[in-house]
Amino acid sequence: MIGLIAATAAGRRAALDLAESVGGCVLYEEGTVAASLARAWEECGQLVCFLAAGAVVRLAAPLLTDKRGDPGVVCVDEGRRFAVALLGGHGGGANALAGVVAAALGATPVVTTATDATGVPGLDTLGWHTEGDLAAVTRALLDGDPVRLAADATYPLPALPANVGADAPADAPVIAVTDRLGQADPAAPATVTLRPRTLVVGVGASRGAPVEEVLGLVEAALADAGLSRHSVSCLATVDAKADEPALLAAATALGVELVAHPAERLAAVPVPNPSSAPLAAVGTPSVAEAAALVGGGELLVAKRKSAPEGRPAMATVAVVRRAPRGRLALVGLGPGSRDLLTPRARAELRRASVVVGLDQYLDQVRDLLRPGTRIEETGLGAEEARARSAVRLAAEGHAVALIGSGDAGVYAMASPALAEAGPDIDVVGVPGVTAALAASSLLGAPLGHDHVSISLSDLHTPWEVIERRVRAAAEADLVVTFYNPRSRGRDWQLPKALGLLAEHRDPATPVGVAHAISRPDEWSTVTTLAELDVTTVDMTTVVVVGNTATRAVAGRMVTPRGYRWQT
Ligand code: SAH
Repeated sequence: MIGLIAATAAGRRAALDLAESVGGCVLYEEGTVAASLARAWEECGQLVCFLAAGAVVRLAAPLLTDKRGDPGVVCVDEGRRFAVALLGGHGGGANALAGVVAAALGATPVVTTATDATGVPGLDTLGWHTEGDLAAVTRALLDGDPVRLAADATYPLPALPANVGADAPADAPVIAVTDRLGQADPAAPATVTLRPRTLVVGVGASRGAPVEEVLGLVEAALADAGLSRHSVSCLATVDAKADEPALLAAATALGVELVAHPAERLAAVPVPNPSSAPLAAVGTPSVAEAAALVGGGELLVAKRKSAPEGRPAMATVAVVRRAPRGRLALVGLGPGSRDLLTPRARAELRRASVVVGLDQYLDQVRDLLRPGTRIEETGLGAEEARARSAVRLAAEGHAVALIGSGDAGVYAMASPALAEAGPDIDVVGVPGVTAALAASSLLGAPLGHDHVSISLSDLHTPWEVIERRVRAAAEADLVVTFYNPRSRGRDWQLPKALGLLAEHRDPATPVGVAHAISRPDEWSTVTTLAELDVTTVDMTTVVVVGNTATRAVAGRMVTPRGYRWQT
């Protein structure tokens, strides 16, 4: 919930405007501003104060306890010019909230947290537990001092600056990434340990098992194996135990989910210690080991039973380490200009440690990448090799962004990449503004009814197939957007395709041409099937042909939403 606090009529109006466009907002009006803020502080995870920053500092100071628990606080000035992330930039999410509020109110977000402002990733923003001296290590990161990265595997970390490396001197501060418990290196002046969620804990429990027995067993198994409880990604069990209160409570205590698998699935998992008791009770010879191993990985703790005094054990546990999952983000950059690059695409570029793409697209975003980002650029062609290398890097555990113009899934890299990708990586798709949509906005409203995109490139598709699709679109009276319409070596396809459409459409049918959309040499025009000069069309152009109902209105292409055209 986001608590809103305002002192003046203008502030209140801004608060109400914000509440209208951002969900989960509640305006606090407790009589005095101080009382409102105090109540919101108690009840909300985040606050937006339409007050001077100084006033908020005075009111919030006595309420501050700890940056992990305190709400994130954003201040907005009366003129709605700035949204300032004042407190809880990372932990409280104020930096991100400042961006949301700024976007909603047309203000500029102001973020002063050093890691966000300078391109060094916040080590506490990965969703992993951190231990140790985060502040000291972050300071060294920011100061450019050598910092040693001690990761026990390749993890999908964001790019780290050049002063971070495995070979830093022994007395440098350390970023450790591990699920193993252990003493920090005494030579290091400061260590921060990140706990990646690599461990799956399989658990079995008899009906009515006490939660202390289950939780105690899990904790003992982890501690004895030298493993951090903060690296547990989930508890896993068999379907029949999905509602067992002790398992649910243990999962809650560890801050993870309880995942339940069907007995048949567990019965098929080879385990070192099968037994007949669970087979009779729930239909699988192993619960704990099989549930831990079902997704693969290395068995670190074989089945272990609880040992309560004076009665039979009611719980079993087993622990598996899974290989870190790399991350592949498929990021569409939009048609060209920066303001059509989505905030999510921008965030994914900064989440990656490796960016793979065509050199011309990398040039579009190079300044947005974090210092230290590894860049794998290739020239035109070699799409499949590029896709394969992105997938291979993600499978090795890296955080990879594969970039392309428009949308990454439209005549682009997402399909060759996903054709190669296995279940061992996380894939994040980021939609981009594809050329057809960018063109549509320039031309008017040509896509107001059913429409189709057709690529005229016969490099990968035989012309017969393309022709069949154009004919079908012509017959079905679909609005058609042609991608890859014409190049120097491919100049007869567009006239041919237009000829096929003309068999079913009037010569006066509106046709929109949009060139280099949102780039410096952008131009667009609305003409007709009969009058289109195809020599103006090249490979940075899309051509949008209207259907039989499309009209030019005041120079704009308009396809009515129904087939009843009203004048
Ligand atoms: N993934 C891209 C399409 C790649 S195919 C997207 O979703 O937009 C390449 C074709 O897209 C080009 O030949 C051209 O027809 C079209 N295109 C891409 N960007 C464009 C732009 N800025 N202006 C006009 N056409 C564009």
